[in-house]
Amino acid sequence: TDTATLSRSAEAFPGLRTRDGSRWHYLDSAATAQKPQDVIDATVRAMGADYATVHRGVYSRSADMTLAFEAARRNVAALIGGQENELVFTRGATEAINLVAQSWGLANLEPGDRILLSQLEHHSNIVPWQLIRERTGLVIDVCPLTADGRIDLDAAERMLTPAHKLVAFAHVSNVLGSVLDVNRAVALAHGVGAKILIDGCQAVARLPVDVAAMGCDFYALSAHKLYGPTGIGALWARSELLDAMPPWQGGGSMIDRVTFERTTWAPAPQRFEAGTPAIVEAIGFAAAADYVRKAGLAAIHAHEAALVVKARAELGRINAVRLFGPEESAGIVSFALEGVHPHDLGTILDEENVAIRAGHHCAQPLMDHLGVPATARASFGIYSDESDIAALVRGIERTLRIFA
Ligand code: PMP
Repeated sequence: TDTATLSRSAEAFPGLRTRDGSRWHYLDSAATAQKPQDVIDATVRAMGADYATVHRGVYSRSADMTLAFEAARRNVAALIGGQENELVFTRGATEAINLVAQSWGLANLEPGDRILLSQLEHHSNIVPWQLIRERTGLVIDVCPLTADGRIDLDAAERMLTPAHKLVAFAHVSNVLGSVLDVNRAVALAHGVGAKILIDGCQAVARLPVDVAAMGCDFYALSAHKLYGPTGIGALWARSELLDAMPPWQGGGSMIDRVTFERTTWAPAPQRFEAGTPAIVEAIGFAAAADYVRKAGLAAIHAHEAALVVKARAELGRINAVRLFGPEESAGIVSFALEGVHPHDLGTILDEENVAIRAGHHCAQPLMDHLGVPATARASFGIYSDESDIAALVRGIERTLRIFA
């Protein structure tokens, strides 16, 4: 019943129709999710009738918008089990991780300190650390994967030492859909005195997340993968850490008092939000949080997990298909088609109104590990259903006939 209810909600997503009004088999929600009408309406109101700046205006419209903006912060924080004073709005997960690297990283990491990443990380959880490696002399260690494509926490346990100051792992792999045992990862990191950052970009839309229960130190997310707008995301950070972190970008809104001699900072989270924030997007972010809260993340997870089981079974029946990743995946399936480049497959599927992602998925070290330059990836959302899988399979069969 969950599956039926959730996929019927496809009606609420105008982006799921093609220009001629037919169903678009959108299997690229891991790149970005389509938006429900509720979220679109909330952003239209925020940009129209309710529009004003925040934190500055003395007039009532601005005061109202400030309340709505801060309510959005509370709302998004609550979605992941956090408090409003722990949630910094950023441009996305990428900026959230860069914020931790540039602020916490530069203040806390020294030559010889080590951090542990994994082989399946998105470039946005690799490159920010390489940028500060140049400036701090830190050493980056890479945790290997299990044979089925999960971060190998037994290996992490063996690798971690007191020299490790940070572990940074994806909660859900954007390529394989594999889900991290966050509680164990947190225990391992804290066991050697390291902090742990979780890249929750794929997880927030696919699983119930509770940062307090998980006990992590930093959690990064993007609104656009959560059925919200682009251009906004968030960093959740434990308040003791955030309160002690120096600013990383300067400007309006992040200060207490400015003189040419000396400037003092606003408290967190404002200290990390220089400039006029993404007001409209924050309102849309909160509307998206309301949307998934109402649908229920446990139900969304069950719905997508069932589609993964179905998709893997159907794809597994095609001889030319090689499946990657674990059987249990949070809504994401990567595969290769023998003799067909993923880009060619993607182009032919497009003619059938099926949208998949083909490429390295911003995870080139993972591609190296899999021994392929690219994969084809089908990823599900709240609105996906078995008709999308059937269309994918029909498209693959047609592609194989064309290439035969
Ligand atoms: N981490 C993961 C696991 C992702 O899937 C993505 C987006 N593909 C990101 C980080 C980066 O998110 P954004 O581009 O929204 O900043």
